[in-house]
Parts: sequence; structure tokens; C-alpha cells
Amino acid sequence: MADAFSALRARDEASVMRTYGRYPLAVSRAQGSRLFDLDGREYVDLLAGIAVCNLGHCHPEVTEAIRRQAGELVHVSNLFFQREQVELAERLLATCHCGKAFFCNSGAEANEGAIKLARRFMREVRGREAYEIITLSGSFHGRTLATLTATGQDKIKHGFAPLPEGFVTVPWGDLDAVRSAIRPETAGVLIEVIQGEGGVNPLPRDYVSGLAALCRERGILFMIDEIQSGMCRTGKFWAFQHYGVTPDMFTCAKALANGLPMGALLATDEVAAGFVPGSHATTFGGTPLVSAAAATVLEVMVRERIDDRAKRVGDYAWGLFTDLRQTYPDKIAGVRGMGLMIGIELAFPGQAVWRELLDRGFVLNLTQERVLRLLPPLTIPREDLARFASALGAVLGAL
Ligand SMILES: *Cc1c(COP(=O)(O)O)cnc(C)c1O
Repeated sequence: MADAFSALRARDEASVMRTYGRYPLAVSRAQGSRLFDLDGREYVDLLAGIAVCNLGHCHPEVTEAIRRQAGELVHVSNLFFQREQVELAERLLATCHCGKAFFCNSGAEANEGAIKLARRFMREVRGREAYEIITLSGSFHGRTLATLTATGQDKIKHGFAPLPEGFVTVPWGDLDAVRSAIRPETAGVLIEVIQGEGGVNPLPRDYVSGLAALCRERGILFMIDEIQSGMCRTGKFWAFQHYGVTPDMFTCAKALANGLPMGALLATDEVAAGFVPGSHATTFGGTPLVSAAAATVLEVMVRERIDDRAKRVGDYAWGLFTDLRQTYPDKIAGVRGMGLMIGIELAFPGQAVWRELLDRGFVLNLTQERVLRLLPPLTIPREDLARFASALGAVLGAL
């Protein structure tokens, strides 16, 4: 039956554009923290579709909400008032300090909306010709032309010039660099408080509070990308809540509908006034189907205190991995992260270790060549993490 996989791979390579370096695995079914391949072999999922299925695969309440809504109303367009979208907006706003939400279909699109809102708010509300967005090196903000320009990694931009104007990247973690990059054209600063693709790098506490203060002082917008770090992943509903700051706007996407495509831009009432009817739109944003799924995700996360669970289970995982680091100080260079967003940095390129773990039935991601990135479902049983830690120990011990 390895043949079924080889045949699928050949058809994929012949028919789907070659934009992904795919893992040598095809998943046919998933439940909770488990994936099953074409042969029915079981894997522990430490990736959750890249921080998407935070409530685990096929969560029964979310699946039921999708089933129910699919029989009622799937799509009608944003020309109409939609009960499900309002319900979702209210629940989302109850998790934070923001006053308004805009719904779209992906993370990149949410960040595009944030960039557009920043520019329009500056011009239309503040009456200032300010449009430039400052971002940090190592960041990841998406793959559209504007968001890849905002991204602080050159490999993402290769071959796509000319890139849109109005973006500048400064070194990560250097507040003076932001201070000197601010000019009259600056509209705002966009950061991930904990970089995901960049290798799981949490920003220091005083940097984030210092940046928030700097933005206020200079009259520019403080914007946060919570696309990967949000939705309880780090042990609070939003990662910025660890830092005691309140951004003027922030974006989310990945885990918002536990696997259905959805993004959102949230802003304070003041900043949201930068948009008026007609200034921004998308056909599919906030359809009843996806909104019903996302509203259920929010309900379950709040009711079951999934943020607290991510913190507790994250602390447990942290203990396992820091113990491993003590056992293999020359092989593990560091353990970083918050809650269940964890990077284990190896002291050497990690492809072989990653591959061996996959063969042993553990699905995770390798980023920046040496960082094993764990983004498991927040509902993952502790035993799965313990089994992974002993497998990693065995793999490192055999090197
Ligand atoms: C995944 C991600 C994006 C892009 O989201 P898409 O849905 O792939 O467009 C943007 N920012 C961060 C931090 C991400 O992790």
C-alpha cells in the first residue's frame, strides 16, 4: 500500500503547481491529536495543520456546527446582514480590548486589511500623509505582494520585484532601530510578539511595552500579527496579553475556524473609523458557514478555558524539553516559546532528526533549518508529549 502513496504523489506532481516542499505523507483521516495515513497508520500530530486545528481535528461541536449551518445557509454575501457573523464578532471582541472586526479568508488577507486600514486611517482620520509600515527582521506576514514585502525574510521576496512601496524592515528586538526608522511618512509598526516561521522567537517584555509607548508618543499605529500566536496558543487568548499592551489593531486567522479558511482584522473603534462603506471588502469574508464554525470555536475555547490548558500543558512540555536539553547540552541549543508554541533549537541542521521522528510517528515542523517547531492541538493529551519527548531523546541519543 506504499504504492497508494507513490501513485498519489505522482499525480500531485503532475497536476498541482509545485509551490510546496511536501512531507512524504498523505493524511486520509484525523481525530483529536491523531493523523492517519492512507494505510491507516497512526501519527501524533504536533503541528495541528500549522497552528490551525487548535481544538484538535474534527472537534465534535465544531463539526456539528458546520453540519447544521451547511443545511441552513452557506453563503449570501456581505450585501446582507448575517446573524452568524455578528455572533462571531461579538464573541471575538469579548476576548480583547478592540471594538470592531472585519472578516476575510486568510492571514495574508487580514494583514493586507491592516495595512490598508493604517494608510486610510492616517490620511482620512488624522489628515496625515503617512503610509509606511515598519516591520521586523525574521518576521512572516504572508505571501501576497504587500504582505511578502512586509515580511522580514529575503527568501520570500526572491523573484517578485517590483515590490510595493511603503515598507521598511528593522532588526528584531532593537528598539532604537525602530526609533530611528520613524519619519513623517510612518503610519505604524507591525510585529509578531512571538515569531512563528522565524523560529519561535518571543520578543522581550520591555521591548514590546517600549514599542507600544513609542508608537503612542510618535502618534503612529501599534499593530500586531496574531495569526499564528493567537487563539489561546501561547496560554492567553492573544499573545500580546502576556505583555500588558493593547495594540490599535491586530490580525488573526489560522485557528479562528479550526480548519475552515477565515481571517479577521480587529481594531479599536477609533482606528476602525478609517474604513467607511466601500473602502474594503471581500466576497467570502464571514460567510454564515465559516462564521458558525468560528463562533463555536470561540464558545468552546472560552467555556473550557483552553488558554489555561495551553499554559498548563505548555509548562509540562517545557519541563520535558528542558530536561532533554540537560541530557543533551551539545545537541539541543535552546528551548523557546510560550504555552504550546514551542521551538527546540538543535545545535546542527535538523532534517535527519525531523525525518526520523516522522518515521517514528510524530508530525512536526522544522523551521530555519534547526528549529523543531511544535504547534500541537491545545487539547493534546500530556502522554502524547511525553511519548514525543522520549522519542526525541532516543533519536538524539543514537546520533
Ligand atoms: C501563516 C501566517 C500568515 C499568513 O497566513 P495565510 O493564511 O497563510 O495567508 C501571516 N502571519 C503569520 C504570523 C503567520 O503565521
